[in-house]
Amino acid sequence: MAIVTKAVKGTQDILPSEVYKNQFLEQTMLDIAGKFGFREIRTPVFEHTELFQRGVGETTDVVQKEMYTFDDKGGRSITLRPEGTAGAARAFLEHGLFNEALPQKFCYVLNCYRYEKPQAGRWREFQQFGVEMLGAAAPAADAEIISLANEIFAFLGVEGLQLEINSIGCPECRKNYHKALREYFEARKDELCPTCLGRLEKNPMRILDCKSPVCKEIAKDAPAIIDYICEDCSAHFESVKKYLDKMNIEYVVNPRIVRGLDYYTRTVFEFVSTEIGAQGTVCGGGRYDGLLEELGGPHTPSLGFAMGTGRLLMLMQAQGIELPKPNGCDIYIATMGEQASYEAAALTADLRAGGISAQTDVVGRSLKAQMKYADKIGAKYTAVLGDDEIAAGILKVKNMDSGETKELAVSDFADSFMEFMLREETAALGESLGGELDGVDLSAILGDIK
Ligand code: ATP
Ligand code: MG
Repeated sequence: MAIVTKAVKGTQDILPSEVYKNQFLEQTMLDIAGKFGFREIRTPVFEHTELFQRGVGETTDVVQKEMYTFDDKGGRSITLRPEGTAGAARAFLEHGLFNEALPQKFCYVLNCYRYEKPQAGRWREFQQFGVEMLGAAAPAADAEIISLANEIFAFLGVEGLQLEINSIGCPECRKNYHKALREYFEARKDELCPTCLGRLEKNPMRILDCKSPVCKEIAKDAPAIIDYICEDCSAHFESVKKYLDKMNIEYVVNPRIVRGLDYYTRTVFEFVSTEIGAQGTVCGGGRYDGLLEELGGPHTPSLGFAMGTGRLLMLMQAQGIELPKPNGCDIYIATMGEQASYEAAALTADLRAGGISAQTDVVGRSLKAQMKYADKIGAKYTAVLGDDEIAAGILKVKNMDSGETKELAVSDFADSFMEFMLREETAALGESLGGELDGVDLSAILGDIK
C-alpha cells in the first residue's frame, strides 16, 4: 500500500462509526471526576524535553527509550508528551496555582506519544484519562483518587479488575532499600540487560520494572521495598488501607509494584486485568511528593493516576459491554424539485434548532436514491416534499419502522414534528414498560418538555 494511505506504525484511526464509544468514555470520566471536584486542564502536546527528563526521570524507560524528541526550527529540544503529569505540574508552577486554595484538582483526556513496540494494548500514540491532585499529603487523598478510578470502572460496568497497591516509601527509607537491592543484583550482574546494568548504580529500583524476561525472573526474588519503609511511610500506608476498607474497595498488596516513573513516592497502585493479554494494566498511579520541588517549585505533596482509554475499551469489548449509541437521524426530508430543496433546507434548519437531528438531500439525487440513502443512515422518519406538498401545505411523515404515516402542516412543521415524535417515543416506552404509562396525561409531560 502507498505510504500516503497508510497510518504510521503504532497509530490508529477512530472512525465515525466507532467514535461514539470514545466520546461516551471521555465524557463519563470527566463527569465523574467533576463530582470529586476535579476540573479539566488542557496543556500543550509538546513541551521542553527537559521537563520530561526531570519530571519523569532520567532512569525511566520512557525517557531512556520511548520519547519522541526533536529540535524545532528555533533549535529548541522539544518532546511530544509521553504522559500528562509533567505538563500539569509545569502549568501549576508557571501559573502560580500553588497560591490558590489547595489541593488543586486537575483532570484531563489527552493523547500521549511513546516510541514503543506496537502490540495489542500498546500503541505509539495512545490516549490517557488522568487526574492530578496537587497539595494533599494525607492518606485520605490517596484513597479518594483510588475510589475515583474505582467509581469509573463501576459506572461503566467493568468487572474483574484487580486493584494492587504498594508503598515505595520516601527518599529516606529508599536509601537502605537501594543498598539491599544493589547487593542482590550485584550478585547476578552478568545476567542483567545492558539498560539495567546502567540502572544498578543510578536507580536499582528501575530494574524491578524492566520488561526483559531475564531481568523479570531475577527480580522475582529481590528484596521488597515494603520491608524497608520508615515508620511515617508505614503509618501512611496503613491509613490508606484503612480508608479503602472503610469504602469497601477491595485491594491486594503487591510488593512488586514500583511503577515506571521516577518521581513516585509512598502509595503506588495499579488496576490490572487478566482479560486483555500481556498489557493488562488499565490504570496506574500514585504519589509524587517530590516532583514539584524537583521542577523548582515549593514542596507540594501530590498524587494522581492515568488510565489508558484504549486498553479500557479493549477490556469493555472483551466483557461485551455496550456503550449507548447517539441518536442517528431523526428525520430525512426527501425533495422533488428546486423549490422543495429550498423549503427543505429551511425546514431542516428549524428542526435542528429545536434539537432534532434532520437531514435532507444535498447532492441532487433522484427520489429513489434519496430514500435508499435515508435507509442507509437509519433515518427514523422520512417525508417527501415536492410541489404538491408545498401547494397543499401538508407534509406526510412516515415512521420507517412501523410504516405508519401522519400528516403535519408545513407552516409549523418543526414544532408539530417534535411533539409527534415525542408522543410516539413515549408511547413506545410505555409499551416496553408494560402499559405502565397508561392513563398518564402526556400532554402535561409534553408541555413541560416543550
Ligand atoms: P506499561 O507497564 O504497560 O508500559 P506504564 O507503566 O508505562 O505502563 P504509565 O506511564 O503508568 O504506564 O501510563 C498509565 C497508563 O497508560 C497505563 O496503565 C496504560 O493503561 C496506558 N499506557 C501506557 N503506555 C501505553 C501505550 N504505549 N499504549 C497504550 N496505553 C498505554
Ligand atoms: Mg511503559
